[in-house]
Amino acid sequence: MKFETLAIRAGQDPDPTTGAVITPVYQTSTFLQTSLDKFGAYEYTRSGNPTRAALETALAALEGGTHGLTFASGSAATAAVLHLLKPGDHIIAGRDLYGGTYRLLESVYRPYGIDVTYADTYDLAAFQTAFKATTRMIWIESPTNPLLRICDIAAIAAETKRHNARLVVDNTFLSPYFQRPLALGADIVMHSTTKYIAGHSDIVGGAVITADADAYTGIKFYQNAAGAVPGVWDCWLTLRGLKTLAIRMREHEANALFLAQWLETQPKVTRVYYPGLPSHAQHALAKRQQTGFGAVVTIALDGQYAEVKRFCEKLKLFLLAESLGGVESLVCYPPKMSHAVLSEAERRAQGILPNLVRLSVGIENKLDLQDDLAQALA
Ligand SMILES: *Cc1c(COP(=O)(O)O)cnc(C)c1O
Repeated sequence: MKFETLAIRAGQDPDPTTGAVITPVYQTSTFLQTSLDKFGAYEYTRSGNPTRAALETALAALEGGTHGLTFASGSAATAAVLHLLKPGDHIIAGRDLYGGTYRLLESVYRPYGIDVTYADTYDLAAFQTAFKATTRMIWIESPTNPLLRICDIAAIAAETKRHNARLVVDNTFLSPYFQRPLALGADIVMHSTTKYIAGHSDIVGGAVITADADAYTGIKFYQNAAGAVPGVWDCWLTLRGLKTLAIRMREHEANALFLAQWLETQPKVTRVYYPGLPSHAQHALAKRQQTGFGAVVTIALDGQYAEVKRFCEKLKLFLLAESLGGVESLVCYPPKMSHAVLSEAERRAQGILPNLVRLSVGIENKLDLQDDLAQALA
């Protein structure tokens, strides 16, 4: 079955007991057992719940994996995957990571004994020098946040295999509709389902998908033991969002491309970072490994903090708020929002300059969005 069909039907067959066409909200903490000798498929909702299972099955199908697991947040999913590492193990992570992933690595896993190296994973030669004998995991995002650099997932996967490590790809920015890392050789895909997958800025959630049975067993064990599982209503809302992922992504991308092309012609915008533009340094790689370019557009404004502040506060449709991937457009100022956990020096080293603004382009009418940007730039 094709993507659009899987999003609506995978794991979501009508309820066998009632015929309900939509997966019910199994709002129960525990499940009746009929014999002490043989327990049923479900015992207790931390360990498993049918609404959650439907979502996990659907996500696994969309990413081309065999196993899916969902979590209370993307960060909980990240923590569960990082827990495959043991003290003394080494991880290579992309330098321009989601701020919260960097915080987990620096403040939770480094003190726990994990050795962390940050590398420019969009530069294969630089990345290759970061391996050690103890390297067990590679963690990348592509496109990166907020500069939208592209990492060559197939090449990184090949290098990772040679070193007997696992490649994890945070696929939040593109969703499985535009990028399927497992097919490119990655071992594990992680999502903040908060973003495009749920798609309506109404829940916080995370997911992990893999076809590696050992990785699945380890992450599943940690999920049940540590317990950061999503609530059943949140799973249901995520399933509802998932059904329209394909059409949303197509609209998001069409709007983003239209606005990125127009922003490139604006004198007060000194640079537009969007992988769908031929001016993007890795446009060819993005075209090869992705089936679309997504809807996060970062711009550099002519000016400094004062101009950026004026622009962000003048926008009316683009709401000044953390996050991305919802149907409504948002604007984010990375130094004070998504990347506030980095020091000024760390941000500068990554190229996150004070005149950068990140736009999450929604699915409103593109002409209204253009008008809003035009009045804020004026
Ligand atoms: C939001 C986000 C996360 C963290 O997810 P939460 O659901 O906020 O915990 C991780 N990676 C990326 C790329 C994100 O955008």
